[in-house]
Amino acid sequence: MRAVITGGTGGIGFAIASHFGQAGYQVVLADLNQNLLQQKVAELHSQGINADYCVLDVTNQQAIEECAGRFPADILVNNAGIQHVARLEDFPPEKWALLISVMLTGPAMLTRAMLPYMRSNNFGRVINIGSIHAVIASPFKSAYVAAKHGLLGFSKVVALENADKNFTINTICPAYVKTPLVEQQIAAQAKEHNLTEQQVIEQIMLAPMPQKAFIDVSEIAEMAAFLCQHGARHMTAQTLILDGGWTAR
Ligand code: NAD
Repeated sequence: MRAVITGGTGGIGFAIASHFGQAGYQVVLADLNQNLLQQKVAELHSQGINADYCVLDVTNQQAIEECAGRFPADILVNNAGIQHVARLEDFPPEKWALLISVMLTGPAMLTRAMLPYMRSNNFGRVINIGSIHAVIASPFKSAYVAAKHGLLGFSKVVALENADKNFTINTICPAYVKTPLVEQQIAAQAKEHNLTEQQVIEQIMLAPMPQKAFIDVSEIAEMAAFLCQHGARHMTAQTLILDGGWTAR
């Protein structure tokens, strides 16, 4: 069983890859930077994991098709992500388009490219890494929130179109996870709001979260693994929220 993980060298992607590799899947890290990919694959090999890599920019249609041709996936984890924080009036249009391209169009086109193999095999699991921002909004994140909300609608359609096969597509939606992406957001928000980084963590990021903690990458990896197990066979088009009670309010 092969799992292709976009953004596979990043904080969450690599944690999923390690977990899947330890469970016996062949893992393919798909990401932008070849040197980092080689380094991360070597790290997986040193743990005895069957791993490979694919240089992939998920905004590039040709690269998507080449990756799907080389590494047809039983499991696709759409995880690649970027952030840009600004009021809508100050949001550079090309940045807005890039966020949508990386986190909505890219997952859709990669799923599209992998579907013929999954359908012919009568098995497919697509796992999107969404965000708490797939179900709630925060100011200054219009493109990110729009892309992540869009993933949920996209997944429902694809689930319906492939309900005749052993195929599921679901979206895991964590609140803040301490990874390089979040470290950058802490710095950006500190500048935007004229606060210290610790104040951003306490007063902005974890303020609405009753459990007051960052989500750990291992929680996301374990949930992704569950979605590939028999117990989740009929769980499709679902939104799995790891938010420490945030949306219970
Ligand atoms: P990260 O920055 O560590 O990893 C993101 C990865 O995506 C990087 O390896 C980057 O190279 C890759 N990437 C970016 N643009 C790409 C492109 N065009 N093509 C291919 N790969 C590309 O961030 P992370 O926190 O591990 O984020 C992973 C996912 O989790 C993202 O979709 C993010 O929105 C989501 N998420 C993160 C958090 C969090 O708090 N960290 C919370 C909720 C959701």
